[in-house]
Amino acid sequence: MSKKIIIIGAGIAGLSAGCHARRNSYEVEIFEKEDHPGGLCTAWERNGYTFEGCIHWLVGTRPGSQFNRLWQEVGALQDTHIYDHEVFLRLEGEQGRCVNIYSDLGRLKSHLLELSPEDAPVVEEIVGAALAFSQVEFPLEKARELYRPWDLPRLMVRMMPLFQYMGKLSRVSVAAYLKNFKNPFLREALGQLMPGGYAMIGLVSTLASLHNRDAGFPRGGSLGFARSIEQYYLALGGKIRYRAGVKRILVKEGRAVGVILEDGTKEYGDIIISAADLHHTHYTLLKGKYLTPAIKEAFRLDTFTSVQVSLGVAADLAAEPRRLALRLKEPWIVGGETNHYLAVHNYAFDPTLNPPGKTVLTAALYSGYEEWLKLAQDQSRYREEKEKIAARVLELVEQRFAAARGRVETVDVATPLTYNRYTNVYQGAYMGWVVPPHKGQFSIAKTLPGLEGFYQIGQWVQPPAGLPGAMLTGRHVLQIICRKDKRRFREGPFRLPG
Ligand SMILES: Cc1cc2nc3c(=O)[nH]c(=O)nc-3n(C[C@H](O)[C@H](O)[C@H](O)COP(=O)(O)OP(=O)(O)OC[C@H]3O[C@@H](n4cnc5c(N)ncnc54)[C@H](O)[C@@H]3O)c2cc1C
Repeated sequence: MSKKIIIIGAGIAGLSAGCHARRNSYEVEIFEKEDHPGGLCTAWERNGYTFEGCIHWLVGTRPGSQFNRLWQEVGALQDTHIYDHEVFLRLEGEQGRCVNIYSDLGRLKSHLLELSPEDAPVVEEIVGAALAFSQVEFPLEKARELYRPWDLPRLMVRMMPLFQYMGKLSRVSVAAYLKNFKNPFLREALGQLMPGGYAMIGLVSTLASLHNRDAGFPRGGSLGFARSIEQYYLALGGKIRYRAGVKRILVKEGRAVGVILEDGTKEYGDIIISAADLHHTHYTLLKGKYLTPAIKEAFRLDTFTSVQVSLGVAADLAAEPRRLALRLKEPWIVGGETNHYLAVHNYAFDPTLNPPGKTVLTAALYSGYEEWLKLAQDQSRYREEKEKIAARVLELVEQRFAAARGRVETVDVATPLTYNRYTNVYQGAYMGWVVPPHKGQFSIAKTLPGLEGFYQIGQWVQPPAGLPGAMLTGRHVLQIICRKDKRRFREGPFRLPG
């Protein structure tokens, strides 16, 4: 009889683990507290508009790429139209100044050099490194826990072309590296790609994926993407129970044996995988009993979050850039975080998200978490702050997009508390930790000492977070489980008949 696996959470990590578990013939049931799949990979409907809540770029959208193969394994991107954009981000400053972050590295290099010839050495280094990264696939398919002695030398050989860049770029943060730019506008433009605390290597690999046309946007957006994995999992015979929040993990004699749901029901399994937020898993579901020093220490690292204002505009903005960073005249402090830019995403390109002739715009501002928590003690102050932010964003958007003036018919504000409320994510930190360069190859063990039959996966376990990382942890945990059960891990693309 096959073992039963219980998975907590139908985010991308949980769904990925579910698909791999089914493909390896385990009986599986996922318990999800919400009524839909995806977790942080989501979108929501308002007045016919689909407000996109996650994917800005998805690594793995180019057919045949490493991550594309891995997405196909979990039923995603099998026949999905992908949108790639020539200009990934356009930074607009005062007096009509602008910088375009082109996806194509050759074009990006010429453009940056034209804007700032004095920055040639740093532009050449970034572009050179990104080109080198664009030609190498990191060996990520196999769980590190299962590495054999001969895997490491093989890995070194594969990474050889990157050695000249790895040493330097993995040891310096984005903010520190970008100080090398003489032109402050270029520095700011590249700085818009990710928070300054990340290692520079992350920014370079993003440019490499964009250049490879392997970091696009799937038609149907985040919720469509999550649903495609959910449907595949169900077709493989997996079960999901929605509106079934887990209250506690049941432990008997040092072994995880099941879960207690919010309604008090007990469910039992041979293996329990928590794909829910790591902080929530430890501090709520396991009552802090299995915390390791590494996990406690990790929660001292920085995280980041933001406020998203989504706008339904009764105008077609397809001629406008896909992604903009608008320089603010005055710095804007939101939830204790200072913003110099307003990031605006224009989804006019995907007809599945907009009513005909209309456009979804979303605007994002970095924000702290604690300030919102304090505000939420008084719901009217919390609402007022949201309204104030929405009004200011509306003003800025109407200044920038003439066609939107007087045509914004729907407004929605998500704060860091919203992310936490819907997914239990720690402090609204939807990208996990910002792992500083000195931490190197940082990750959290998927197993816990003193707790047999339990595994933890998801964005916190394998930084850098994001959808590919979450999906990988679902694959890796099943490799580990299969190894333990002395089964050969079944992998590779697999299309369901019909
Ligand atoms: C605004 C925004 C932009 C982003 N942009 C990108 C991007 O461009 N590219 C990219 O790759 N990534 C992006 N991300 C990050 C990405 O969405 C996350 O890293 C990833 O989705 C995390 O997946 P996960 O499965 O680890 O966790 P989650 O998505 O948090 O899934 C956990 C699941 O567990 C459920 N759950 C929690 N507690 C319980 C419980 N007690 N019982 C039952 N169920 C429970 C939750 O409801 C949720 O469904 C973005 C995220 C946001 C919010």
